[in-house]
Amino acid sequence: MSHSYDYDLFVIGAGSGGVRAARLTALGGKKVAVAEEYRVGGTCVIRGCVPKKFMVMASEVSHALEIAEGYGWSFDNARFDWPTFLQAKDVEIARLSGIYTANLGKAGVDLIHGRAVLKDAHTVEIVGKNQTVTAERILIATGGRPWKPEALPGIEHAITSEEAFHLPELPKRILIAGGGYIAVEFAGIFAGLGVDTTLIYRGPNVLRGFDDDVRAHLAGEIEKRGIKVILGCQHASIEKTDRGLVNHLENGMRIETDVVMFATGRVPHVVDLGLESAGVELNEAGAIKVDAFSRTSADNIWAIGDVTDRMNLTPVAIREAVAFHQTVFRDNPQHFDYEAVATAVFSQPPVGVVGLTEAEARHSCAAGVDVYVTRFRPMKYAFTGSDERVLMKLVVDADTQRVVGVHIVGPDGPEMIQLAAIAVKAGLTKAQWDATCAVHPTMAEELVTLKDKQTASSGAV
Ligand code: NDP
Repeated sequence: MSHSYDYDLFVIGAGSGGVRAARLTALGGKKVAVAEEYRVGGTCVIRGCVPKKFMVMASEVSHALEIAEGYGWSFDNARFDWPTFLQAKDVEIARLSGIYTANLGKAGVDLIHGRAVLKDAHTVEIVGKNQTVTAERILIATGGRPWKPEALPGIEHAITSEEAFHLPELPKRILIAGGGYIAVEFAGIFAGLGVDTTLIYRGPNVLRGFDDDVRAHLAGEIEKRGIKVILGCQHASIEKTDRGLVNHLENGMRIETDVVMFATGRVPHVVDLGLESAGVELNEAGAIKVDAFSRTSADNIWAIGDVTDRMNLTPVAIREAVAFHQTVFRDNPQHFDYEAVATAVFSQPPVGVVGLTEAEARHSCAAGVDVYVTRFRPMKYAFTGSDERVLMKLVVDADTQRVVGVHIVGPDGPEMIQLAAIAVKAGLTKAQWDATCAVHPTMAEELVTLKDKQTASSGAV
């Protein structure tokens, strides 16, 4: 390290990406500090993926109970207690945050509790602490924050996912605005917990950007789980009354509810970071502009994770952190490969996808695509009245016969897609998938036994 700086690396934000970069670099013998203004762990651990998954699991129990009755079980007075769950969840989140903190300490990283603001390209001030530190290199990993349309009359009555993790009591009715990951996940959570749930989305179907068959299938399945889905609608205002809230829609509909939650996207967390003072530029979308190696417009400053708005997923931020560390501190230039990153939506039923949608493949595969689709009732539901169906779809490049997209809607779809992603990433062909012997009886065996090509997309929206 140049002796003129306090640290070799100063990381702003102790989320998944920032913590990984800080630990790797400190373990490599460098002097590292990380500043965090809230709790160590970031969005994923504190108010995102992890608590969300616990909520999904709590909610799914109601479905398991329904299935159990079909198998001969009976439960007297089965009921859910929200405060008990919240407390258990918060204890676990505190434990995980503690592990993150301990691991930073074990690696020799200095943890600074406070808000860091850039004063220049090498200087950071910790707000309210009268503390200024210098660093040879700086990494910005401040993540994102929920966005809601502030111009909408009455928007101050609406919550976002942040508050949804800590509602003092479970509402009887909830209205969720949006049609992305967070909207469909929370709609499933609340509906499973017995809340009268309405999802309102401005587009023609939920999960824009996903395969059209997935979108159509999921919309049908979540309605079977009791969620009211209202499509093609915009909000006009939210009114507070003495009986709760009234959501007025532009088409004249008025919906009474107890809680309105906006899940209308997240924006990079760049406000008041002092970026201009350090020469760090934003792109047109308001995210920190970076090159393939995550370097910003300032030579000694890098940025990773949601604040760069590339692919806003925890494992991607972690890989970006590793690539940053290798490039900057190991003399081994690396950039993350964004191809064939699998993703899961923890809706109920959940979605797991990797690779291209059918529409994307038709656009990029010159010789066209072969599409294989199956829809079936999982064996688990045989003794129940449930008519829930699983969707599995393989998209194959007609020329190379490589499987370029896998799309699953159904129980354990996220677990299955992790393994399918290996085959897609490896570029295996449909014949190689078929040469893999089935595991019976499973749902996943369908993925290696799909025989009939579909002539046209059946679920286009
Ligand atoms: P998304 O970008 O996925 O979805 C935002 C939704 O809000 C879209 O349906 C969008 O509609 C709608 N919307 C945006 N602006 C308005 C508006 N002015 N009025 C009405 N509707 C509007 O964001 P999320 O908040 O759901 O999630 C943020 C990101 O976090 C995700 O993209 C994902 O990267 C990550 N995430 C990942 C999870 C996972 O891996 N399981 C879970 C949760 C989040 P339209 O489609 O028409 O633009």
